[in-house]
Amino acid sequence: MPICIECRTPVKTLWTQYKGAGDPSSGHNIRLTVCKNCGRFCDKYVEHDFVVLFIDLVLIKPQVYRHLLHNTLMHERDQFDPSIVRLGTLLLLFDVYLTWARIEKQSVPDPGSSQTSNLGSLAEQPIVCQYMFFLILCFFSTLAFHLSIRFLTSSSFSPLTFLGLLRQPCARPNSVSTALLVSSSTKLFPILMVIWDYDVPAAARSLGWAVVANNVEALEILLDCGYGVAIVLAAAGAVARWLVGRAVLWAAGLEWVDSMGVGDNGVAADGEALWALLRHLREWAGRLAVG
Ligand SMILES: [Zn+2]
Repeated sequence: MPICIECRTPVKTLWTQYKGAGDPSSGHNIRLTVCKNCGRFCDKYVEHDFVVLFIDLVLIKPQVYRHLLHNTLMHERDQFDPSIVRLGTLLLLFDVYLTWARIEKQSVPDPGSSQTSNLGSLAEQPIVCQYMFFLILCFFSTLAFHLSIRFLTSSSFSPLTFLGLLRQPCARPNSVSTALLVSSSTKLFPILMVIWDYDVPAAARSLGWAVVANNVEALEILLDCGYGVAIVLAAAGAVARWLVGRAVLWAAGLEWVDSMGVGDNGVAADGEALWALLRHLREWAGRLAVG
């Protein structure tokens, strides 16, 4: 059942269609339902296009998450929406690009040695092999992230249920993955950033923080579990992802590579990158306002 995205009251329908709909001469014969509880439109996003949705997603508006997670992307039998499968694939490919660029730009661990690249012997392999390596690294890291959060939210053996932090296991694990994928779409931001010259590793790090904030918000909205539990879930997912990433790097003999990009420059660089990103965003918003 759909809900009002403003106050979460369940509603029967989000809009009513009047006679003559579909006939171009009669115009637009759809009327949005007004919520009986709060008096606002139940779901104004029904009429908005993808660009508005994406901007509001990036701005972490709870209403847009409720619209996507409760009103459009959820199916009765907890199936994945085809658009979510496509989004997941796109995010994985983007992750490969960002991870590759970040690891390649890290400094060589021992400048005195014969190594010319941070990637060691991997750098001498054909480019397809290098790509496959990063694809495997990102695939298994992402899988670990999703599986650990799905276990914690949906399994009856979840420690969160035992501790009473989660009232009951979530009956729809695929909706948890959907929430995580939708909220990770901030990762696609570099599409907009190719028009500015920007520092890839720094952007990847600051995007990482934006994605974490989005993930926490989406989990909180979907599970209605409070921000504390949502942060614990996101942190557990991040730890699982990091561990699997380390394991893959170790298996490939690249254990010195810093997969998270935290060691090199630390928090100061993160702050700087975040500030640069914000400045770009403000500039961009300013240009939009003028144009
Ligand atoms: Zn309402």
